[in-house]
Amino acid sequence: MAATPLEVRNIKKRFGDTEVLKGLSLEAQKGDVITLIGASGSGKSTFLRCMNLLEQPDEGEIILHGDTIRFKETRHGREPADWKQVVQMRAKLSMVFQNFNLWAHMTLLQNIIEAPIHVLGKSRKEATDHAHALLERVGLTARANAYPAQMSGGQQQRGAIARALAMDPEVMLFDEPTSALDPELVGDVLKVMRDLANEGRTMVVVTHEMSFARDVSSKVIYLHQGLVEEAGTPDEVLGNPQSPRLKQFLTPNY
Ligand code: ADP
Ligand code: MG
Repeated sequence: MAATPLEVRNIKKRFGDTEVLKGLSLEAQKGDVITLIGASGSGKSTFLRCMNLLEQPDEGEIILHGDTIRFKETRHGREPADWKQVVQMRAKLSMVFQNFNLWAHMTLLQNIIEAPIHVLGKSRKEATDHAHALLERVGLTARANAYPAQMSGGQQQRGAIARALAMDPEVMLFDEPTSALDPELVGDVLKVMRDLANEGRTMVVVTHEMSFARDVSSKVIYLHQGLVEEAGTPDEVLGNPQSPRLKQFLTPNY
């Protein structure tokens, strides 16, 4: 049997005196779309950032495709034992951020080919051909030579998704990818994400888009103050919530 793309076990993280993640686990099998929901401050971003070591978890295990990330204890706490391993794992686990994070001084095309050339060792020609195919997928063929500042938020975010896809990642992490967008631009980005889900991409998505979560998730996890309060299929968690807090969270406030 193929190894599980992503497994995280019992992740704990504190900032100063506050424990913001109190033991979180998650397992993404190939093709799973796992959505993380929860109030602001519940730990969703920190959990996602711990998965690819943008934050160092204080405790817990991260296993990517059967490969366990090795840590060492230092005076400052736990650190990865081998940063080369972290670079390799990030190449397999690409992240899309709320604020797009395209490199401002590069064109969209340059943004997309940078890591395939410098991290994966692809030739410029191969990387560029792949980039053009990805740009077509996300509807940005005409913007290849635009700089991020010349693009709308929706275009930048679709460009960021193309950049993530260029690494041919095993798992894609999304942190509220549509939250910073004007409402009329949200649909195009969600459409790209729905296509990725439907073609069997393994994804972990933090989102407030409940109809997206309902339609594409294999599993929904509701976080409250750094703990899983409820988890299950979308029908269970979104359709038949048990905890009063989750019921309230899901009630539209109008
Ligand atoms: P969410 O994404 O669910 O809104 P976050 O993971 O961003 O939640 O934050 C969880 C908690 O951790 C919050 O109380 C936040 O203030 C705190 N926090 C997040 N990042 C840091 C940091 N770098 N330093 C100190 N506190 C942080
Ligand atoms: Mg967040």
